[in-house]
Amino acid sequence: MKTDVLIVGSGCSGLYCALQLPEDKKITIITKSDVESSDSYLAQGGICMLKNDADYDSYFEDTMKAGHYENDRESVDIMIRSSQDVIHDLLGYGVDFARDENGALAFTREGAHSDKRILFHEDITGEAITSKLYEAVKKLPNVTIFEHTTMVDIVEEDNICYGAVIRREDGTLETVEANETVWACGGIGGLYRHSTNFRHLTGDALALALHHKVRLKNINYVQIHPTTFFLRDEQERSFLISESVRGEGAKLYDKNMNRFVNELLPRDLLTEAIYEQMEKDHTEHVWEDLRTIPEEELRTHFPNIVEHCRQMGYDVTKECIPVVPAQHYFMGGVWVDYMSKTSMDRLYAVGETACNGVHGRNRLASNSLLESLVFAKRAAKQMSGELTQKAKQKPELFAAVDMAAYEDDEKLAKMYHKEVREAIAEADRRMEESKTA
Ligand SMILES: Cc1cc2nc3c(=O)[nH]c(=O)nc-3n(C[C@H](O)[C@H](O)[C@H](O)COP(=O)(O)OP(=O)(O)OC[C@H]3O[C@@H](n4cnc5c(N)ncnc54)[C@H](O)[C@@H]3O)c2cc1C
Repeated sequence: MKTDVLIVGSGCSGLYCALQLPEDKKITIITKSDVESSDSYLAQGGICMLKNDADYDSYFEDTMKAGHYENDRESVDIMIRSSQDVIHDLLGYGVDFARDENGALAFTREGAHSDKRILFHEDITGEAITSKLYEAVKKLPNVTIFEHTTMVDIVEEDNICYGAVIRREDGTLETVEANETVWACGGIGGLYRHSTNFRHLTGDALALALHHKVRLKNINYVQIHPTTFFLRDEQERSFLISESVRGEGAKLYDKNMNRFVNELLPRDLLTEAIYEQMEKDHTEHVWEDLRTIPEEELRTHFPNIVEHCRQMGYDVTKECIPVVPAQHYFMGGVWVDYMSKTSMDRLYAVGETACNGVHGRNRLASNSLLESLVFAKRAAKQMSGELTQKAKQKPELFAAVDMAAYEDDEKLAKMYHKEVREAIAEADRRMEESKTA
């Protein structure tokens, strides 16, 4: 197959990138599962926006503080200053954010935000955004989406990417020649026992980056979400009890139903405090009390959380629910510059797969949808310029691909997962060593 742009991943970053590319270019999106099975559809809390100029310093500081000041300041500045433009686009695609009684956009707050600056749609903001992006993409005649199609390798030479090797649902292997390739492959939660992510998100782009010497950054910066519904079955995806619930007043209790922590601490510090409490109490979870939120607000702002807990046997208007931390987000990833270019020519990375340094060591709540969209748009802008020039083709490279190397998909996946896990552990070990040196 031949295409102008190959986008690997159909989450919000992949779809939005496709929407921003020139309509006279052939764009191919592939996704490992169906389009609705991406973490973008799972986002509950919301998406940040710079409300007005007066909020800039405070928003910047909140992002930096949550990231332990390891954030790339320019990336943070780009994200914040581009937020109104992205939200304007989303409204144009028909995204229905909550409004106040005067019809103006309504804002909520989450942990570590010093002000209300998060737009939301009930507690299914990700679905509200991504489904509209998907609708818009479906209307574009130049974009084709192949579901249940997995990238198993890239085709490159001399640090230039010429396309990829893909596996179709029926197991058939094929090559895709592309002028530009975009990794929009999401996070790494599928590598962990407890994670809020879809199980098929296993950091495949990282494995390929390791194989082809594409630069990585901060790959041991993994965020654990402090509050997911406690489940004994570790194979199930963990259900998130959104941070906005705590932003709106929910409290955390130890085994004796006493508060033990400031619930609005940044995620990593709150997670640490919960683990400490669980160890002290010899328990597998702590308790979260949503009864502190007026029932009417609970039902209108958080209907899915209320319903999920009901299905699990808990009435949140009458009782506390058991919660435990779980892997949630990946701050590190494939290193990219401010236009989302990787260290390999004609290869871009966007969304959770990429690391432009915006989140530092810890992501501020509701910054990831925004960051994914802002930098996907920048990638599209950069590629649009490059696509005006004729790209060098290398058909001989594709003719020489040894398809037999990809035939055993289970063995290949195991190898990739092991390599990524080892690379993360190694990065962790090196960081610990440098601290003690
Ligand atoms: C439960 C939950 C709640 C969240 N809540 C919020 C929130 O309130 N606010 C916020 O800002 N962020 C939130 N996040 C984070 C946010 O949803 C993600 O960071 C963001 O959606 C990532 O988008 P993405 O496009 O990078 O990846 P995703 O949406 O995860 O999409 C990844 C895509 O890549 C595809 N893929 C992966 N590997 C391959 C491969 N080898 N070949 C082909 N396709 C592949 C997948 O099939 C998928 O289509 C939440 C995350 C979770 C899990």
